[in-house]
Amino acid sequence: MPWYRDGLRFACTECGKCCTGSSAYVWVEAAEARRIAAELDLDLQDFGRRFLRRVGRRYALLDKPYDQECVFLEGKKCRIYRQRPRQCRSYPWWPNNLESPDTWEAAAAECEGISPDSALVPLPEIEAALRSA
Ligand code: SF4
Ligand code: SF4
Repeated sequence: MPWYRDGLRFACTECGKCCTGSSAYVWVEAAEARRIAAELDLDLQDFGRRFLRRVGRRYALLDKPYDQECVFLEGKKCRIYRQRPRQCRSYPWWPNNLESPDTWEAAAAECEGISPDSALVPLPEIEAALRSA
């Protein structure tokens, strides 16, 4: 059984911090790009030109140029929330965050939703999120 077999406490406060201030990439796969383009009523090429950057053989969302904030963050809201990439949906249930209590603690330093005051997320829900990460 994993170390978090009794569940972990997390509830998103929608603070927006995980969408800002990092040099990390938000990866976008082809099917996701098509869905986001449709959500924005853009054709795929136009969407790619305006919102994506190529990184090696992959694509990632652009940041706003001045503050390393995701191009789709407006105030504290995600403009494409319903179609946000898998990487955003699965946060903070990423394998590297769940490696050990220490890595989870480190994630908590970045995400205020990981807190003893938050709701307990049971193991099956964590495992399902991990599978989609
Ligand atoms: S940092 Fe955590 S609490 Fe804040 S928006 Fe991201 S997931 Fe939610
Ligand atoms: S796509 Fe939305 S949820 Fe993902 S980083 Fe950008 S603003 Fe945040």
